[in-house]
Amino acid sequence: MSWAPDYSFSPSEWEPPAQRENDTIITSDVLQARDTPSMIEQTVTPPFSLNPSPSVHVEQPSFVPVSTAFYPGSHCDASDLVLLSSDSVLFYVHINILLRISENTFSSLLSSPLSGDTYRGSIISIPETSVVLDALLHFLYSESCADQAPSFETLCTAVDQMPFYDIEPRHHIIPSNPSYGYLLAFAPLFPLELYALAAHFDIFHLAASTSSHLLGCSLSTISDEIAERIGAIYLNRLFHLHLRRLTALKGILLRSPYPHPPIPGCSFHSQKQTSRIWALGVAQLAWEATPDTSAHDIESSLSSLDESSTCALCQQSLADWMKAAIASWASIDRMITS
Ligand SMILES: [Zn+2]
Repeated sequence: MSWAPDYSFSPSEWEPPAQRENDTIITSDVLQARDTPSMIEQTVTPPFSLNPSPSVHVEQPSFVPVSTAFYPGSHCDASDLVLLSSDSVLFYVHINILLRISENTFSSLLSSPLSGDTYRGSIISIPETSVVLDALLHFLYSESCADQAPSFETLCTAVDQMPFYDIEPRHHIIPSNPSYGYLLAFAPLFPLELYALAAHFDIFHLAASTSSHLLGCSLSTISDEIAERIGAIYLNRLFHLHLRRLTALKGILLRSPYPHPPIPGCSFHSQKQTSRIWALGVAQLAWEATPDTSAHDIESSLSSLDESSTCALCQQSLADWMKAAIASWASIDRMITS
């Protein structure tokens, strides 16, 4: 059995945050100002007795910061474990929920499994700030972290740190998890960073949903660092998505409008001239096209070509072509495929 540092300590060993060297009680105002979820100051109360041993007198602090999401009574069942963040905020949690998906959760921090009775009712020190621990716990509890409004950077840190606590991100960052939607909401703002996060941990559905926001990204500008984090497989999927859409768009644009039978005022020859003008306009659009070219871009680029013919049948044919082209383009997949 490999040695692992034990980050836990019993309630009798717990040194109140206010009495630690270089430590201070953090008020809710200060915490909020540091992008910290709002905390309540709460008197230390059972179920966790913090009374020191009779031989050592430790003066208890009047208040300690407690998470507003994970406090005593925050959930139906009574908590049976307390996690202490690096900035001395207490999180009252439930062992059965932490171990719901994997029994190895936090095992790297502990000398024996969390599933045993060793840590029931004790306090485990977690080397994460309260905002990161809060986000991490919301994913483990499958609850929305929207009320705490963590930043994108905080969420990324929480996910990146999951493996350190023997938590598999793929098992928790799933569409049915309410915090998943909160994380995905950052896709329009940080598409490349979120795609890299999802790709790094092989969270396909998150990467796929985010990839639709990368259609306007110039792939040549991706840095080596981000490319390495994304990895070969997901980078390949992103390149294929761009290539697939560009090829599909060019195929759609290069279909010529159908000619109509010659009528007085519009012969085959005049239709050929109209087609030539149309082809030049389409070639220009195809040259400038990108994977995120919109239907509006197609419409506005080619609408002026309607004036290339005064024939009502030619104009109708062009209008039908435009309608079919936009419908075809809208049906092309906007996300990576596995
Ligand atoms: Zn015509």
